[in-house]
Amino acid sequence: MSEKHDGEIESFAALHEKSKNEGRENVSTTVFMCKTDWDYEIGNGTVEVYDTIEQLKKERTCVAECGIVEVEVTLKRVVAQRSDGF
Ligand SMILES: [Zn+2]
Repeated sequence: MSEKHDGEIESFAALHEKSKNEGRENVSTTVFMCKTDWDYEIGNGTVEVYDTIEQLKKERTCVAECGIVEVEVTLKRVVAQRSDGF
């Protein structure tokens, strides 16, 4: 089994873990993001958030310059359910 395949399994497991929160309102999670995205982009464009600081640093090398913020994301309501075909 390749390393990449293991990673995919891990991602699927993480997705499955998160899906347990689906439909439950007011569930919060703590995530990390680029401070420049926080200062200028959130609410004004597309931003990315990461589960861990290590993952953020790996995927977004800009944070060495931009800085990092820890934020809390809360599910307020489900706007559209996942389609049955998923
Ligand atoms: Zn940045």
